[in-house]
Amino acid sequence: MMAIDDIQRRIAAAEETAGRERGSVCLLAISKLQPLERIKTVLAHGHRQFGENRVQEAAAKWPNLIAAYQDTVLHLVGPLQSNKVRQAMRLFAAIHSVDRQKLVHRIDSVAQEIGSCPRLFVQVNTGEEPQKSGVKPDELDRLVKDIRNRDLPLEGLMCIPPAHDEPALHFALLAELARRHGLTGLSMGMSGDFETAVRLGATHIRVGTAVFGDRSG
Ligand SMILES: *Cc1c(COP(=O)(O)O)cnc(C)c1O
Repeated sequence: MMAIDDIQRRIAAAEETAGRERGSVCLLAISKLQPLERIKTVLAHGHRQFGENRVQEAAAKWPNLIAAYQDTVLHLVGPLQSNKVRQAMRLFAAIHSVDRQKLVHRIDSVAQEIGSCPRLFVQVNTGEEPQKSGVKPDELDRLVKDIRNRDLPLEGLMCIPPAHDEPALHFALLAELARRHGLTGLSMGMSGDFETAVRLGATHIRVGTAVFGDRSG
């Protein structure tokens, strides 16, 4: 049995415990800094939802893999610079790191140009950590309004809890913020805490090392 089978089994158990519908949580296998062979093994095993945190790295390795597995769905879960937006919008089906007005404007102008737009998640800095990306909770309202005014496909919210906090508090806050804004997507939970995230309503969990093993580099 592969590690990913065990993760899927744990997700199903957490869905059941939480009284959630089976299959309501999407597992994103976060493949950053993983050897290509491991990614190919997971693809060959049938998994199709993947996440990367850097546009450059994803652009270097995924076009060939997508050519071989055309139903692959790629998600960007790391920070996005304005000058990489065009490249990111061609490669990714979803962007989980929308966190500022300038980026929204850039996404909007490229979307008008190419006639399509990835599904968007606004990253919220739930711990209000100064060095971390994401909008502060009290700035969320303004950014959500701007995205909606532009008719961009806003799906939900994303967070990365501070390393030494209880993640459940941050997941609950993110779920409450999403509810208040009428958003259904919740991108939260990683290798160490995805079951907690499922219990608190995650729709997309981002699991790297627990699927692939330790990262190089
Ligand atoms: C790397 C990464 C993950 C996966 O982390 P693991 O601890 O390996 O599961 C999830 N989300 C983001 C944004 C990441 O950069």
